[in-house]
Amino acid sequence: MDVNKKYPIPSTEEEDVEQALGILWTQFEQGVIKKSELEALLQEAIRPGILEDLIQGGFVSQTDGNLCMSGKGLTIAHDMARRHRLAERLLTDVLELPREQIDPNACRLEHVITRDVENAICTLLGHPQACPHGFSIPPGECCMKALKHTGPIVAPLSSMLEGQEGQIVYLSPHNRPELHRLLSMGLVPGSVVRVVQTSPAVVVSTPDGILAMDPVLADHIFLRRKNGAGAHHEKQ
Ligand SMILES: [Zn+2]
Ligand SMILES: [Zn+2]
Repeated sequence: MDVNKKYPIPSTEEEDVEQALGILWTQFEQGVIKKSELEALLQEAIRPGILEDLIQGGFVSQTDGNLCMSGKGLTIAHDMARRHRLAERLLTDVLELPREQIDPNACRLEHVITRDVENAICTLLGHPQACPHGFSIPPGECCMKALKHTGPIVAPLSSMLEGQEGQIVYLSPHNRPELHRLLSMGLVPGSVVRVVQTSPAVVVSTPDGILAMDPVLADHIFLRRKNGAGAHHEKQ
């Protein structure tokens, strides 16, 4: 199989267009549509002349000093916003990269994440609706499919009910010693646990035995639920 055909790598020019459309998407969301403002912003972020290229290329049009995206522009902008924001969530919640590394890495990744990987990340993260900055993540096909289930497929241990079973997908404690503690207790991605009790402590049975933990810690263990798809409940 020709990997370049299936997953072509964008050229620098294509990346500039993608980057610019992603920036415009975020500005439009915030109600900024004035050409003069956006032109200055794009010039600073990418290069002089990029807006003219977007207009020439039919990605963007202008009326009365305001900008608007064409269908072709919107399709790309939607993918860029979705991939950037999913990457931010992955880098923040799962990989726990330092804050200053999140944005530059998400900016690289948005151009190379393929549709397949995009939907796999979205599913891993439980189809999140917002990025760490609070911007909404445009939904993809995987989110539409997941809507048929009630509640997210991947959910924190703290949202599960007694008797429910799930497979650990990832752990996201806020500090490393906690992560090591969980791992040493046998709570590793892939292992299956069953909820025995939910309060005052969360008690789970694991292949290695019974474990009790503070409910706060249970907020940071994410599982793919195995049974009782309808049993999701809101935390008090
Ligand atoms: Zn963000
Ligand atoms: Zn999704």
